[in-house]
Amino acid sequence: TSAVDLAKSFLDRLRRTEPHLNSFLHVSPEEVILKQAEELDNKIKNNEAVGPLAGVLVGVKDNICTYDMPSTAGSRLLENYRPPFDATAVRKMRESGAIVVGKTNLDEFGMGSTTEGSGYQVTANPWDLSRVPGGSSGGSAAAVSSRQCMVALGSDTGGSVRQPASFCGVVGLKPTYGRISRYGLVAYASSLDVIGCFGSSVADAGILLHTISGHDKFDATSSKREVPDYQSQFVAMDYLESKPLKGVRVGVIRETLENGVDSEVISSVRDAVSHLEDLGCSVTEVSLPSFSLGLPAYYILASSESSSNLSRYDGVRYGKQVLGDELNSLYGDSRAQGFGSEVKMRILMGTYALSAGYYDAYYKRAQQVRTIIRNSFKEALDKNDILISPAAPSVAYKIGEKKNDPLAMYAGDIMTVNVNLAGLPALVLPCGFVGGGSAGLPVGFQMIGAAFDEEKLLKIGHIFE
Ligand code: GLN
Repeated sequence: TSAVDLAKSFLDRLRRTEPHLNSFLHVSPEEVILKQAEELDNKIKNNEAVGPLAGVLVGVKDNICTYDMPSTAGSRLLENYRPPFDATAVRKMRESGAIVVGKTNLDEFGMGSTTEGSGYQVTANPWDLSRVPGGSSGGSAAAVSSRQCMVALGSDTGGSVRQPASFCGVVGLKPTYGRISRYGLVAYASSLDVIGCFGSSVADAGILLHTISGHDKFDATSSKREVPDYQSQFVAMDYLESKPLKGVRVGVIRETLENGVDSEVISSVRDAVSHLEDLGCSVTEVSLPSFSLGLPAYYILASSESSSNLSRYDGVRYGKQVLGDELNSLYGDSRAQGFGSEVKMRILMGTYALSAGYYDAYYKRAQQVRTIIRNSFKEALDKNDILISPAAPSVAYKIGEKKNDPLAMYAGDIMTVNVNLAGLPALVLPCGFVGGGSAGLPVGFQMIGAAFDEEKLLKIGHIFE
């Protein structure tokens, strides 16, 4: 098929599904998409080189900057913001031939786990429209799951790629901190933020990762390490062997399969582990006693960093501007009217944790806990190639169910936040369907790897699926 035919079929599907899902905050005009596709077709016809993502239709989370579309980060404060540049990841995708379909919905500034915290609209889970798609990258997950686009970019500060991937039954990849440039990603908590990839298969997510990874002079925290050829994993024929994963050491994190986790989720993850065993992996149980400390440490650190990052929205430089009689009211009113309630709560929590007199008790202790968590992962990953846990303690819940109970929502992040605190890569894959309804709801499990060992995760994931 031609790129134009492909684009037409996806656009048709998008038109029919979007009124039920609300995954996009902005869709690129059809003629713009088709023109880009036509240019690619012409290049192919003339035997000109095209990139590895030629004609691939991508969704981009709306906290990632695009020069030709709005970039609101889900916030009313940035309603009229149009960045004059592309985020590095977006630029690289486009240079590889990708076509950006539109900007996907999210919890405001990435703060949330349901996408209900968007300042604009609520996105539905394609498997059950009365349920949340997860968050904060819920729009990207729903769009890939419903084939409104082929792959999508999200961001993951504490699980925002992995948990929605699990809720929507798609593949979600959170790379190592520093693997992908954060230039053009609207900052939430800079020491935790990464751009991540959604796909319907591990190969899709891996090829996307390959095109957007690497050092960038515009992000001092991006790594100078060479980018391995992630794609070579997908042409390997290893999976034809009877035990293709022989010798791979898998550690199942005991603390993640205990009470507080839905029993159906536990049994799906255990099935996935037996499947890995059948493929040749040796499986042991590992204990990470510090695991439960991740949640409080994460929420203190993420809120603290966000309170500082969000100070740039002052009504002067960009975003909403509410002019009053004096300068202070310009700051105050612009922020009061621009930010939603969850964001305000995070700013208050973060400012409190950083304030003189409380700093040692909260921020500093959380940093110490972060070091303990990082060390315990390192130790466990010296003895194991990958660690396994559920991606979330439950399947997708009802829209509204946790909206007024932030602590219950935060508790759902228990499986993912530790990985960000440790800066490690993790891959979430679907491993079953549970519960009522005709098809049930998807369950995902998480494989955590050593820093910069995305290759191993992709290889194991590809053979697993
Ligand atoms: N749910 C978590 C939070 O609200 C994680 C969000 C994210 O990864 N962006 O902070």
